[in-house]
This record gives sequence, C-alpha cells and structure tokens, in this order.
Amino acid sequence: MGRLIAILGDIHANLDALNVVLDDCREQGVTEYLCTGDVVGYCACPHECLEIIRNLGCPVVKGNHDHYVASQQSLEDFNPHAAAGVMWTRGQLNGEELAYLNDLPFTVTKMGLTLVHSTMDHPENFGYVFDNQQAETNFIRQKTPICFHGHTHCPMIYEKQMAGVYRIDPQDVVLRAGRKYFINVGSVGQPRDGDPRATYVIYEPLSRKVVYRRLNYDIAAAQARIREAGLPERLAERLSYGQ
Ligand code: ZN
Repeated sequence: MGRLIAILGDIHANLDALNVVLDDCREQGVTEYLCTGDVVGYCACPHECLEIIRNLGCPVVKGNHDHYVASQQSLEDFNPHAAAGVMWTRGQLNGEELAYLNDLPFTVTKMGLTLVHSTMDHPENFGYVFDNQQAETNFIRQKTPICFHGHTHCPMIYEKQMAGVYRIDPQDVVLRAGRKYFINVGSVGQPRDGDPRATYVIYEPLSRKVVYRRLNYDIAAAQARIREAGLPERLAERLSYGQ
C-alpha cells in the first residue's frame, strides 16, 4: 500500500477528539503524520495531547496558542476566553514542555509539501485567511504546490490558477497538476464551521487525493473536563455547536 499522510491540527488540548482521530488514522492505514499546530489552548488536556503528538515523531509547526503559552507574551490580542485558556495552560505544562512549544518552527517543508499554522505571509504574525485575497498573499510566498494550514478552524481548499484564486468546498478532491493548493485541514479539537465533529485530512500523494474526515467523539466528556478544570463555560459550550 502507498503512502497515506494524515494532516491534523488545532487540537487545542481536546484529548477525547484527538483519540478518536488517531484511532481513525490507524483504521484508515495512515503511514505518516503532519501537525499544523495549536496542540494546546482552550480545552483541558494540554499535557496529554502534547505527549501524544510528540510520540508520533512527526513534523509540527507552531500555532498562536502554542506560541503564547510558551513565550509568556502579553495576551492583549486574545479574546478573554482564549486568554484564560492560555493562562491556565501555562500553569499545566512543565519547563521542558514549554521549551518544546517555544522551539517549534513556524513552517516546515518536506517532500514537496509545506506546513504552516496560519499563512505563509509572515507566519509569525498569525494572520487569518478567510477570503481569496488573503489566500493570494499566501500563494505569493508558497513555494511548493501544496501547503496545509489551519488557524481558522474552518476547512477550505484554495486553488491558485493562472487567472486567480478559487475556493473548492472541503470534500474529497483530486488535486490537479500545474496548480497550487492552500488547504485548511479544519480543527480536531474545536471546529468552527457549524459542524461539531472532529476534523482532519488524509492526503494520498500517489493519487493526489485529499479526503476530509469528520468524526463524532464524546463531546460531553470533553466538556466535563473543561468545567472541572474551571475554564470558561463558553469553551465547553461551543464544542456542542462547532462554533
Ligand atoms: Zn487554533
């Protein structure tokens, strides 16, 4: 059997979602992993999720939550719930774990694929790509035909053709030669496109096929952990709605 690459990110310390995703990866015959960052923040199991991702031994890029948890920087750009999550997470991780997060690269290029959390346009600024114009500024700096990212928690495929940038619905798609793709893999731990199921992508290089996987998991269990940790109620609630 050929290579099957799972690309997962925005896990956000949601252990219940991550376990279901990794079970699915094994069932699907995934042979390698890539992680688009934001392993921690929002949910209640940062230590466990970090350990699992590190044990995969795969490339991981730095998300804004990973960055702010590790760097002790001011949180004035964060909304109050996200900031509360970052503050709480800082207290859960040991020095070695914080150093690991702090040392993560902003981008990784491997075998013709690029990995970034937000956009290749100044990745350290963590800008959001929600429209074709923002995707266009990414494509200017994207050197490989395919780049996987996350950050918005909304699955989407941007295709760069000669005439401009087009959006393709996040479903099973065969990528075409001679075009560039900027693929948002959605979020494992806190989806925001109105579908609360855990999301990740499987890419098969041989057939150039992209498959979005969406999986039910025990949302109530993840919510119970958030409430037990004393994190903001909103962080528990939003998991029910995928927003
Ligand atoms: Zn995120």
